Amino acid sequence: MTEPSTARRVYIRTYGCQMNVYDSERMAEMLAPLGYTRTEAPEAADLIVLNTCHIREKAAEKVYSDLGRLVPLRATARRASRRVRFVVAGCVAQAEGAEIRRRRPEVDIVVGPQTYHRLPELLARADRAGKAPAICTDFPAVRKFDELPARSGSGPAAFLSVQEGCDRFCTFCVVPYTRGAEYSRPVEDVVREAETLVDQGASELCLLGQNVNAYHGLDAGGREVSLAGLLRRLAEIDGIARLRYTTSHPANMTDELIRAHGDLEPLMPYLHLPVQSGSDRVLRAMNRAHTAASFRATVRALREVRPDLALSSDFIVGFPGETEHDFEATLRLVEETSFAAAYSFRYSRRPGTPAAVLPHQVAEPDKARRLSILQALLADQQHSFNRGFENATVPVLFERRGRLAGQLTGRSPWMHAVHVDADESFLGTIQPVVVTRAGPHGLAGVLAIDCENATG
Ligand code: SF4
Repeated sequence: MTEPSTARRVYIRTYGCQMNVYDSERMAEMLAPLGYTRTEAPEAADLIVLNTCHIREKAAEKVYSDLGRLVPLRATARRASRRVRFVVAGCVAQAEGAEIRRRRPEVDIVVGPQTYHRLPELLARADRAGKAPAICTDFPAVRKFDELPARSGSGPAAFLSVQEGCDRFCTFCVVPYTRGAEYSRPVEDVVREAETLVDQGASELCLLGQNVNAYHGLDAGGREVSLAGLLRRLAEIDGIARLRYTTSHPANMTDELIRAHGDLEPLMPYLHLPVQSGSDRVLRAMNRAHTAASFRATVRALREVRPDLALSSDFIVGFPGETEHDFEATLRLVEETSFAAAYSFRYSRRPGTPAAVLPHQVAEPDKARRLSILQALLADQQHSFNRGFENATVPVLFERRGRLAGQLTGRSPWMHAVHVDADESFLGTIQPVVVTRAGPHGLAGVLAIDCENATG
């Protein structure tokens, strides 16, 4: 094992989705042999990494404004005879490239999502070159996974990246441009990483990919394996109690994958399946490759094999050309489907995407009004879904300490955050919990064993 040469601290700020949370964990693991431990305090750090996301509106501006606040820490550190390095990683780094250095010359390294495995080498290069920048924004996802170190200590519920990039080119989305073409990791690599995570105490794995159900990695014999096949392989690993995957595309929900939801016990009854709109006209303009009817049919098939399946989704309102009629079609789809959770946004232009230059952009007040109507409906559905669990006993995997003293927080199979007063010895275990209160965003309960003791 490599001994750290000097004690240094890295502060990593993660923006955006679980893919970025995973990438930040991997960066921290990769920097550990160089002596870096993670800190939550940027002022104490020797290395500051902004792991950025380009999905949200004004993503690049947010990064520049955060840099504006963080860069003065360099002068403070210098007065204490310390040096601070700045790294911008992730999708904004990919999209902006050298522009970041032009606007913020203090940034030492700009590294794209497919090249962060080269961070140690880039840090050394930045050290040697003094103030010269290192910009690395190629797309070699294949090499990245080969060169990342083994996993270390991700906790009871761990992310595992199995697929990256996307070939679907939805007209509003930057992912195909920032993460590159679709790439699936080989099955054996995924299985090895899963076994390492289980050895380190994980019992739940969430498989990640921008379009995860397009997964088609090769097995040891060179045969293509689907996501359903991969899930079945992983379910055989001793110690894996729960499997999830995200984010899926409705057009990639194959019959085989739907069947897995019915007969693969560790596959949890929760699925994030973005529909974006209930109007076929809008879905066509988005280049979504599914219709409202095909989405409804997929949901029906899923619920047939797994009646307790909780569904969450993504919605964009005010896509260019969306009429009141189109928006009502979205409301109808939501009313019929009933979602346990959802993420909904106003459409905002992403430079470089086809939708950014479409005519008939919707006026902001109309977007705002439609979004608040949709969100009220989704919030109602989420709360009533949660209320359905009051007094029920649900198995909870305890993942971490809660916000209150003596409290632990875990997840139900349906992805509820569940808060329970419980001893820390329950961390990492799955325990039956009696739900005593269902809020809009989570559940509170007591350990079933405590209930029995109280009544017995
Ligand atoms: S499928 Fe998802 S990641 Fe791919 S282009 Fe569409 S929205 Fe983006």
